[in-house]
Amino acid sequence: MQKDEIEGNISQFNFQDILVELLNSLSAVRALSELNPQAGDEKELISKALSVLIQNQDMERCSFFILDEDQNLVNLTGLSSSEHFGTERIKQISLRFKIGQGIIGLAAATGQLQHCRNCKEDSRFLNHNLQQSVDFLPGSIISVPVRAADELIGVLNISHPDVNYFSEWHVRLLHIYKNMMGELITNYRLLKHMEEQIIARTKNLETALEDIKQLKEHHESMSMRDELTGSYNRRYFYSQIEGALARAKRYTQPLCLLVLDLDNFKVINDSYGHGFGDIVLKDIAGSVKEEIRESDIFARFGGEEFVIVFTDIESAKGKLFAERIRLRIASLEWKVREQAVKITASIGVYCLKGEALEQSGFNIDTLLNYADQALYAAKAAGRNKVVFYAPEMPRQ
Ligand code: GH3
Ligand code: MG
Ligand code: MG
Repeated sequence: MQKDEIEGNISQFNFQDILVELLNSLSAVRALSELNPQAGDEKELISKALSVLIQNQDMERCSFFILDEDQNLVNLTGLSSSEHFGTERIKQISLRFKIGQGIIGLAAATGQLQHCRNCKEDSRFLNHNLQQSVDFLPGSIISVPVRAADELIGVLNISHPDVNYFSEWHVRLLHIYKNMMGELITNYRLLKHMEEQIIARTKNLETALEDIKQLKEHHESMSMRDELTGSYNRRYFYSQIEGALARAKRYTQPLCLLVLDLDNFKVINDSYGHGFGDIVLKDIAGSVKEEIRESDIFARFGGEEFVIVFTDIESAKGKLFAERIRLRIASLEWKVREQAVKITASIGVYCLKGEALEQSGFNIDTLLNYADQALYAAKAAGRNKVVFYAPEMPRQ
């Protein structure tokens, strides 16, 4: 403010008035600095900023015209002090200015504050095609462009019904106020942008984690599967048998272990080729799966040898199920070069009661050894047989 301007102001107002204006201005600036850019949406934030301004200054109306995507200045929000800071009256009138049009458009086009001391006689004000009632026309108005990070956001306006109402105080205050509003909106937009980025990145991260989890599960499941037959493999068998034994011990439930080996499989390979041998292995695995329950453990142990664990099954039932499997395999038939090909399997079984598991120091190797001895006996007895372990059997 120039020295003579200040002196002019002092002559117009007394010191007390100036002091009150200064305090009001400082209160407005302080209240604006206290606004939280995180609260609500952008419109809410701008409305709060206007409300702070009007509460601390003796101006009749203030409004904010935001620059929309089509480069139009649109009436975002307006407050009127005479209506106890309500927004109704101004909001009802939907106004829109092109850049350069009217005093609001001019403030946007020039980037300069526009002060209209007498709206009715000022060509800048009358220039625009405002279609509002003459009652609403202000006596004086100040329009000031608000920028955020060097970008025009909109135009802040204060108006009063009286002509020549606004003083240099108001002009000065608005300069400070529009800068602070610009920063407030910049911060708000930055925060929103960061929030959006965080949400997007969190989502990406969640998707990546889910992909990794699925990949891990797939890998784990693949590492537990036999590639040729799709059955579980030896690794899976060992991962499950410990738990099955522990449950059998805890609930004193019986358990049967079967070791199944195809008879003279070498002959199949030698006579019809390894490829055909693979088909036989796949078909047999599929057929055995159909004969057992979901809760049973079935795995290709290696080569043409499979293991099956029947949980919670007495030996009589174990024998029945083993026989059923043997018969199912024996019933299978393939055609190679018009020739019928059949195969049989020998099965060694070891069943034990839960009580026995509890008392003895049985481990999985003991069980497998017993079932193997029974399998060996089945082979020795002529193959295509189910044989139960007996203590007098020769050790393998
Ligand atoms: P035995 O009745 O005494 O069991 O006679 P065998 O011919 O079945 O004898 P052995 O168990 O020693 O032979 C198993 C054969 O199984 C040998 C091997 O070439 C074959 N084999 C092992 N794995 C596969 C496979 O993945 N595919 C094919 N086609 N053959 C396999
Ligand atoms: Mg064999
Ligand atoms: Mg074998």
